[in-house]
Amino acid sequence: MGEEGAYAHFCATVDAASAVGDVTDPAVLERIKRPERVHEVTIPLVRDDGQRQLLTGYRVQHSSARGPYKGGIRYHPRVSLDEVKALAGWMSIKTAVVNIPMGGGKGGITVDPHELSLRELESLTRAYTERIWRFIGPLVDIPAPDVNTDSRIMDWLADEYARLSGLNDPAVVTGKTVEHGGSLGRDKATARGGFDVLEAAFSAAHEDLRGKRVAIQGFGNAGANAALLLRDAGALIVAASDSTAAVVSPSGLPVLDLAAYKERNAHFCDLTDFEKRRADAPLYEDVDILVPAALEGQITAENAERVKARWIVELANGPTTPEADEVLALKGVHVLPDILANAGGVVVSYFEWVQDLHSERWLLEEVEARLAVVMRRAYDAVTGLATEKGISLRLAAYAVALQRIAAAISEGEKAPRRTISTVLP
Ligand code: NAD
Repeated sequence: MGEEGAYAHFCATVDAASAVGDVTDPAVLERIKRPERVHEVTIPLVRDDGQRQLLTGYRVQHSSARGPYKGGIRYHPRVSLDEVKALAGWMSIKTAVVNIPMGGGKGGITVDPHELSLRELESLTRAYTERIWRFIGPLVDIPAPDVNTDSRIMDWLADEYARLSGLNDPAVVTGKTVEHGGSLGRDKATARGGFDVLEAAFSAAHEDLRGKRVAIQGFGNAGANAALLLRDAGALIVAASDSTAAVVSPSGLPVLDLAAYKERNAHFCDLTDFEKRRADAPLYEDVDILVPAALEGQITAENAERVKARWIVELANGPTTPEADEVLALKGVHVLPDILANAGGVVVSYFEWVQDLHSERWLLEEVEARLAVVMRRAYDAVTGLATEKGISLRLAAYAVALQRIAAAISEGEKAPRRTISTVLP
């Protein structure tokens, strides 16, 4: 990241929104900012060539004021405690913005999973689960996928948890394959939730998605699915990147082919049929809509001036620093903030959890319809406050969340919630 770490950005935004949300008691703010528990673990891995390695992993349990900890697990060489603390804090804010009865948490392993074989990836996941299984559980802390983790990895985690705890409950993790208790629609949920928010914002601004030019940074789960939805709505995806390169085409990229290409774990830098640029090129394309869908800290004080898009849909967590926000506001860019725009993933994770706990299976149409309702309510609450106070959607979303978390903390102080634990003695 730039000058400051992601966790400092999280705390700065909480502070900035506190007056608007009328949550100004320093003791309450401190509880909202600081994680309840931080687990740092060492994870032994035996490589295929017999070499032994000791990797570092984390699980940060940020807030349980509104329900069990909830948040993804990231495998990436840049994973650090600072990053996981920020991501966990953003989860607490996000679950409050969309008003689902969950708190926030996040996990990660500092590793480049692209250097691992399938056997090594499974072994790493099971070893990480061995380190954290006593702290998670269906009513305590429910992990999910994030960058470089997918449904297969979640299946391994659930299986290892069952083996270690003796509790065979798919509700311990979300984002699993449908065969192992995953929900229909979870794979596209983050993108679909962002799309729902963008549609609502476009409708309010009397704009039409048809013919709009779009650039996508990060063509993974969130970014590729967003590209497909936007293309189906008549928009033109003119630039997209993965961590190795960007591909551009002024007449529109074949997003279905590119998504199939990425499914095979291939890299954009190896594509020969397209004009290629640096991986950060989508940020500066002359487009109507920019979708940052890679990592945090991408739009900063240094480069925000170069962003040409009029709309930014933050599918990544924390792609814009607070300093960049100020630059974008002066330029009149409409920013649909991460804690609202990418909340669809955790909403459908919550649906998956509910289905698992109640042994239900919802139809895809049902999942999508329920998601649209939750996203619309959150959008209305956030835009309502933003309009009333004349503030950005980000500050309004944080303010809505702070009010809800502060109310839960105060309720808990009056009548402490009985500790729910599935940990076996
Ligand atoms: P993913 O691993 O499926 O995809 C990430 C993509 O970003 C990959 O294509 C990768 O090559 C690319 N990338 C990484 N670094 C890049 C860089 N510097 N420049 C350009 N591209 C780069 O991950 P994902 O699940 O799609 O997550 C992406 C972002 O969305 C993350 O910030 C994540 O926290 C956020 N998010 C994901 C979910 C979810 O449900 N998956 C939910 C909410 C938020």
